[in-house]
Amino acid sequence: MRVLLVEDDADLSRQLKTALADAGYAVDHAPDGEEAHFLGDTEPYDVIVLDLGLPKVDGVSVLERWRREGKTTPVLILTARGAWSDKVSGFDAGADDYLTKPFHTEELLARLRALLRRSAGHATATLECGGLRLDPRAARASVNGEPLRLTSLEYRLLHYLMMHQGRVISRTELVEHLYDQDFDRDSNTIEVFVGRVRKKIGAERIETVRGLGYRLTALPGETAPA
Ligand code: CA
Repeated sequence: MRVLLVEDDADLSRQLKTALADAGYAVDHAPDGEEAHFLGDTEPYDVIVLDLGLPKVDGVSVLERWRREGKTTPVLILTARGAWSDKVSGFDAGADDYLTKPFHTEELLARLRALLRRSAGHATATLECGGLRLDPRAARASVNGEPLRLTSLEYRLLHYLMMHQGRVISRTELVEHLYDQDFDRDSNTIEVFVGRVRKKIGAERIETVRGLGYRLTALPGETAPA
């Protein structure tokens, strides 16, 4: 999952970027409204954290522009304490959730998980696909009850496939949702990661659909995903 973090406070940005990366997200950071709008416009984020008080263009205007342009990405806004009217204008502009500063990082992470879960149409926090289970709260996965040892990129890949299980996902889509914009994509090809994850979860769980991409499915005989 890839997140855009829009925040002009350097300390808070650094702290959130680390927390988001530790939680398994690919993170891009925009320190002002102009860059935020550009990145949100050109990159396909899974979720966006948007501070409202920003240099150049304010957060509400950025959000209004995205929504006018048809962007449906879930957006959580960060508002200043006591500024209740910011929440109203934020929601009216198209926000899906908010947090008032100062907040606990854990609460931000929990709200982002909820937004992602709802936008992908999942009912429960833990994702299941046959014998595969993935818990985004702990960034852990298991197969038939056996814990999987995954690198952060392998985890990201499996998380994305499980969020969109049953659907064919192209390599391009995977690249866009697993890597941040500064990542050296050439030396980290998707095929390599798919191969490694297959080895760990059982090759037949990830089907290659020739010319189109990959599809994660339960094995024959396993319970169908809810
Ligand atoms: Ca600010």
